[in-house]
Order: sequence, then C-alpha cells, then structure tokens
Amino acid sequence: MSAQTKFLLDESKMPRHWYNIAADLPVPAPPVLHPGTMQPVGPDDLAPLFPMELILQEVSTEREIAIPEPVREVFKLWRPSPLIRAHRLEKALGTPARIYYKYEGVSPAGSHKPNTAIPQAWYNQQAGIKKLATETGAGQWGSSLSFAGALFGIEVTVFQVRVSYDQKPYRRALMETYGARCIASPSNETNAGRAILAQNPNHLGSLGIAISEAVEVAATHDDTKYSLGSVLNHVLMHQTIIGQEAMLQLEMAGDDPDVIVGCTGGGSNFAGIAFPFIGQQLRGAGKTKQRRIVAVEPAACPSLTRGRYAYDFGDTAHMTPLTKMHTLGSTFTPPGFHAGGLRYHGMAPLVSHLKQLGIIEATAYHQNECFAAGVQFARAEGILPAPEANHAVLGAINEALRCKQEGRSEVILFNLCGHGHFDMSSYSNFAAGKLVDQPYDEAELAMALAGLPSVPA
Ligand SMILES: *Cc1c(COP(=O)(O)O)cnc(C)c1O
Repeated sequence: MSAQTKFLLDESKMPRHWYNIAADLPVPAPPVLHPGTMQPVGPDDLAPLFPMELILQEVSTEREIAIPEPVREVFKLWRPSPLIRAHRLEKALGTPARIYYKYEGVSPAGSHKPNTAIPQAWYNQQAGIKKLATETGAGQWGSSLSFAGALFGIEVTVFQVRVSYDQKPYRRALMETYGARCIASPSNETNAGRAILAQNPNHLGSLGIAISEAVEVAATHDDTKYSLGSVLNHVLMHQTIIGQEAMLQLEMAGDDPDVIVGCTGGGSNFAGIAFPFIGQQLRGAGKTKQRRIVAVEPAACPSLTRGRYAYDFGDTAHMTPLTKMHTLGSTFTPPGFHAGGLRYHGMAPLVSHLKQLGIIEATAYHQNECFAAGVQFARAEGILPAPEANHAVLGAINEALRCKQEGRSEVILFNLCGHGHFDMSSYSNFAAGKLVDQPYDEAELAMALAGLPSVPA
C-alpha cells in the first residue's frame, strides 16, 4: 500500500481544454424546445440571455474546447485541486476499498462553482456585458459569481432562495464583500416574485422561482445577461476540468476507479468528475474498464430516482425553454432541508440522458444519514464537507462498506465538491437532534407532474 496521501499536479499540468461529452454520446440528447413553437431553439432564441460564445458551447459537438488563457490564469489561484487518498476513513470503516476524494473546497468560494463562474464572467466581459443576474440556493453559486464579477468588473445581482437567505447570513455577507447585491427570493423586484408573494407572503422560495426572477431581469434589461451555475451543457463542460485532473492524479497513484460518486443538485459537480471517465469508456468501445457511476441526490428532492423523464421548464414562472430531463415538475417546492444547493426540481439534460441510457445509476438519501456521514468523514479526514457534499460522502462510504462485505478492494473516487464552513448552523442542528427527515409532499408531486407541459412526440 502506498503511504502517499495527497496527489498534487503542477500548475503546468492543469488541463488546457474542457471535455465535451456530446462528442461521444451513443445517441444525441433530445433537443431543447421553444415553448411557443415546440421547435428546437436556435442560438438567436438564447441571445437575450447569454453571450454568443457560451451559446456556441451549449450546442457544440466538438470533443475539446480550449480554456482561454486569462481563465487558466485565474484558475491558478487554486487549481489544480488536490486528490486525496482517504487512508483514515478507510481504516475507520475497516474496508479493503481504496477511497480517493477530489477536493474542490480549496477554491476561494469554497466549492467547485468558480470553475464555471470564472469563464462565464470572462466570456460576458469579452462580449461587453457590464451586469449579470443570477439565482443561488445555499449561496455557493452566488458567492462564486460575485467573486468572478469582482475580478472582471461586472456588477452582479443575486436572487437567493428565501430559506437559505435566512439560514445563511454569512454567505450573503460574502457576496456583498465581493461587491454583489443579494436579494431574498421571491422578491418584490420582479413580476415572477410578486405573483408568488401575492399567493403566499411567507413562501420559502425555490431555485425554480429564483431562476424566474433572474431570467426576467436579464430578459427585460438590455445591459444585463443571465448566468446559471448548473444544469446547462456549457456549465457541465466547464466542470470537466475536475475529472481530467483526477484522471492524471489517479495515474500518479497507480489506480483506476471502479466506482465514481458525486452528489447531484443540477448535476454539474457530478458531471465534472464523471464525464471525462464516461467519455473514455464510451470511446473505448468496451476496451476500457467499465466503471459504475453513481449520482446521489436528496430523498426530499429526488428528481433522478422519483421524477419523470419528460420535457419541462427549468423555472417556476415558465420563462425558460423546455428541456427533456428528470423532473419533479416545475411547480414542485421541495421541503426546506439543509442542502440548499440540491433543492432543484429538475436535472441537467445531459445527466438525465445518461441515466436514461443506463450509463449512470442514481440513489437518494435523507439528510440525517448524510450529516452523520459528514461528521464521520470530518473526524477521520479533518475536512468538514458542505451539506450537499455529504450526500457524496455517504454514497462513497456505502460503496466502501459494500466492498468490505464482499471482500473486494475496489477503487472508489468521489467528488468532495465543497466545504461546509458556512453551514455550521445546520451541523449544530444535526448535533442537537433537531434535523427532520421531512418527506416531500406526494400530493404536491402528483400535482406538479400532472402540470407538465404537453409536448408532441
Ligand atoms: C451548488 C452545489 C451543489 C449542487 O450543484 P450541482 O450542479 O449538482 O453540482 C452541490 N454541492 C455544492 C458544494 C454546491 O455548491
């Protein structure tokens, strides 16, 4: 057994390209549809919201897209991120498995999100854009885009889901420190927000509602574009730097993963670690090791395991195009649990497509067992994971315990996509036994699914 713990890449080895899985899919993903015409959307339909370079990335089928040099220069502030062998967790579990985690919490914002915030802000700056509007759940994405905006001179407005806005005042303070404006959503600043507040002034908010507000601001202001922290093809592609680095680092370790685990809210950190490996598998035509790829989602918002694979809107007010994805219905409001970044009704179309093709698996866990896994991880490895990342930690621990039962020394790789230093109130609540594993409302789910838009086959 190698005693080495950290596998570090030199800055000169940082990947120069993003990996685009669209080049290697056995079947292309279904097209994105315009809700008015039910025809595939073209670049012009998206132009009010995004700069053209990002729209071209969204529809590209090129296998590799070069990472612009100014973006790589910023990445050097924290990339390449470390790959760490979890020797102490392995010992605590008594497993013959070898567990590795890629740690994205070393970024300035504390998660993987700056991997896409930096290029998105840069492409907007290159297109002459001065303002960006966005949404945030737990505040990870809002702080990442605020950081990127500060570097590239862009004014950032963030609609933060009400429940997280109240639970996490320090994420808001961080956004404001970076110079952004942060507004609790639903808000009185948009038609979408006012309509929700008229029905329920105490609405907890949801990512779907916050997206509607940010899209509305961008669509109604010529000088403002919209930026999304997950779900879209180009966002998932920007995250593939994670998996490409991990591949090089595992080569240094002399290992090759049998199982890859990531948590899924919109699917971006999962795609980031998994897609480069899946691509290798797809291109290898059976000659490459066939790995199991496991997405872990919250049981209170289980789009991949309990949602329907159907065309749906990405937001609650129906301002976005229709995408085919695993969805709980765009009007579904999940209960207020502590992994705000995973409270989204839909899933990245690319992740949904891979699930539909049987290339990836999905599983769902409740929050208390996830926090217990996070505490066990912190006591063994020292790092305190974000509540979202705890889902991946539990997924990896359960795979390691399966290996123990079966006496197999498999290699498990998981994405530790962020730290939980802004989430200490949820850890305190967990320690005090105050977290409730609140199930979602079955009647509300049925209603939300019944309201899915009908799309001609
Ligand atoms: C935003 C976030 C998530 C959920 O988003 P994905 O696109 O699914 O990665 C998960 N973990 C952390 C730490 C986040 O900040």
